[in-house]
Amino acid sequence: MQIKNRLTLLFTLLVAAVLSAFALMIYFSSAKIRKDEYFKRLKQQATMKANLLFDSKIEPDVLQLIYKKTPTFLFQEEVAIYDTAFHLLYHDAVDIDKVKETRPMIDSIVALKELQFYQGKMQVEGFLYTHNEKHYAITAAAIDEYGYTKLRSLRNTLIVTFFIAIAITFFVGRFLARQSLRPVSAIVDKVKKITATNLDLRLDEGNRKDEMAALAITFNETLNRLESSFDAQKHFVSNISHELRTPLTAMLAELQLTAMKERSVTEYQQTNKHLITDVQKLIRLSNSLLDFAKANYDQTEIAFKELRLDEVLLDARNEVLHNQPQHKISITFDKEIENDDFISVQGNEYLLKTAFINLMENGCKFSGDGQSSVSISYTPELLLLRFADNGIGIPEEDIGNIFTPFYRGKNKAFVGGSGIGLALVRRIIELHHGSINVSSEVGKGTVFTIELRHVV
Ligand code: ADP
Repeated sequence: MQIKNRLTLLFTLLVAAVLSAFALMIYFSSAKIRKDEYFKRLKQQATMKANLLFDSKIEPDVLQLIYKKTPTFLFQEEVAIYDTAFHLLYHDAVDIDKVKETRPMIDSIVALKELQFYQGKMQVEGFLYTHNEKHYAITAAAIDEYGYTKLRSLRNTLIVTFFIAIAITFFVGRFLARQSLRPVSAIVDKVKKITATNLDLRLDEGNRKDEMAALAITFNETLNRLESSFDAQKHFVSNISHELRTPLTAMLAELQLTAMKERSVTEYQQTNKHLITDVQKLIRLSNSLLDFAKANYDQTEIAFKELRLDEVLLDARNEVLHNQPQHKISITFDKEIENDDFISVQGNEYLLKTAFINLMENGCKFSGDGQSSVSISYTPELLLLRFADNGIGIPEEDIGNIFTPFYRGKNKAFVGGSGIGLALVRRIIELHHGSINVSSEVGKGTVFTIELRHVV
């Protein structure tokens, strides 16, 4: 069931419940008032007749005649007067005799002084009347036609009003529910139109204050993130194709040129050398991409264990030096290590080594002297690593972008690369809940500082 229908139904049921409670209360309290008032009226009428008989000495025949001549005498209160010994002294109309008085009834009236009961729809009031210190039991009975008519009309009015009120509540409730949920329908319609090809569409944020606006704002923020991640992916793929195509095109051109005619052995060797360099470049690029993909996995997919970072750094240095024996990398401790925990972190060995290799290689390759240094320090909470070099430095305007995938700084002419390295390093450090910062001065050198939490 749709929410607007459910809301309308609930609202209508609630109003129906409240209205019926009110209607029933009004009806039953009116019925009780009618009953009480009619017993009172019966007693008054009977007392009046007894007074006329005993005090004003009006003849019973006269009273009976008045009773019978009343046009609505059938609904008139019929009065009967008995003495306490159950002798009938007066009766409005013995032939009609609405109440069949019995000895026990009269005795009850004498004992209780007042007796009220129903005989069918007819109300009967019996009471003890005293005149000149003599007691009489009087009964008065009639059907409260007027009262019942009023009650019936009240009941009908209540029923009709109830159904009209419910109908109004239903339609007004449905209108209001539709009105309040209209923004949701608008959101649904708009969201249906958003696909991968038009991720730039945004929802109307309305007054930016109510719950609907909050929903639209949250959705728009999600779309912003999705769009930029989509763009980044597109950018990434086109960068990858470009990076792959460049060395492949160079290799193809070189091979075609060599194949045009017969070449000398030296020329073939030269071509081979170029091809090896290009293939190595391709291998490095695909390795970096693979590492980047690994570092972007869901964190739960990556195995973490306790590691001594000085050991990981030594491994990284060995690997860099194995590939580039001309580089020089020094690793120093700023402080004496009193406890293994101070240089240990919870991490993934392969990923951290990859990050350190990238930083070490960058330090060496962007320095004329091919040297870089790593220093290890710690605080009670953090482990601090400084990767420093005295190289060409990074221009101010590049600093903000060097961690973006495929971004290469203005100094890229100095040495080759793919622009993946630092993006990978930052991702790896983020995965380890650490931080990385850079400070650099053109012509003087660069320092990357990494902060990682100790094993707790
Ligand atoms: P690559 O080294 O393949 O170009 P990176 O992602 O490792 O890609 O680095 C991005 C850019 O940051 C580099 O192109 C370079 O401009 C700059 N950079 C990184 N490390 C250094 C460094 N130690 N000295 C100077 N520039 C650096």
